[in-house]
Amino acid sequence: MKHALIILAVMALVFAAGCTGNNQNNNISDNTNIKITELNNLKVGNVTVTWLGHASFEVSDSKTVYIDPFVLQENSTKADYVLVTHDHFDHCDVNNIDSIRKDRTRIIGTLDCIQKAAGLTNSIKPGEFFQYMDGVRVDAVEAYNTNKFKSAGQLYHPKGAGVGFVLTIDGVKIYHAGDTDNITEMAELRNQSIDIALLPIDGITTMGMEEAAAAAIAINPKYVIPMHFNSDNYGLTGMTANPNELVKLLKDTNIKVVVLKPLVSKIA
Ligand SMILES: [Zn+2]
Repeated sequence: MKHALIILAVMALVFAAGCTGNNQNNNISDNTNIKITELNNLKVGNVTVTWLGHASFEVSDSKTVYIDPFVLQENSTKADYVLVTHDHFDHCDVNNIDSIRKDRTRIIGTLDCIQKAAGLTNSIKPGEFFQYMDGVRVDAVEAYNTNKFKSAGQLYHPKGAGVGFVLTIDGVKIYHAGDTDNITEMAELRNQSIDIALLPIDGITTMGMEEAAAAAIAINPKYVIPMHFNSDNYGLTGMTANPNELVKLLKDTNIKVVVLKPLVSKIA
């Protein structure tokens, strides 16, 4: 009897791992929420989310979406959409945007950034969204600091200067938090069934580890990918963080922390 139970339990585990295996093009096993990987991407459904480095991501199915493409590979696939969270140079890189732009690329971001870009641009503010004919939907949400100051009384990211995004593509919902602290508005994302949350963890200009863990618990996504840390190779010093701490902080939850390896190791 005891043996039968153990066999059943093992079968259940294999089945669970097999199910998610179909959803992923990588070898992340799913019987633990600890996911420190050597992988550059996470695949959910038909959608692949690749960490380029820093806050830069490529999201692709048959379409290609870039978010904050400050870190970019040479000869990247051209974009169908480019999303920019705010006007800082490590997020709004107009030269990079131009290099991945084609005639019909939509560039969506805060006005101060997109007004410097060429092509089809749409400015967006928190609470606004664009729904496109191909099923892509882009919602802007709040992103701001509450307690990260560059000088006395001066927040790095004051409210109103930036946004986060909820990108819906092929039925998969991806939340890119932008540069933000753990803000009360994040709890509103909880009933949106976010699949993947991209959360900053540097602790200097954005959330630190405990704040990111609290944010993740508030949002309750299936996966969290930490970002915006260890960016020395991109010319951004002082953002040292150990993502394993986030893994530990969330180990008793259902949220899977997927620590990716940036695809682009260095930029000039
Ligand atoms: Zn930043």
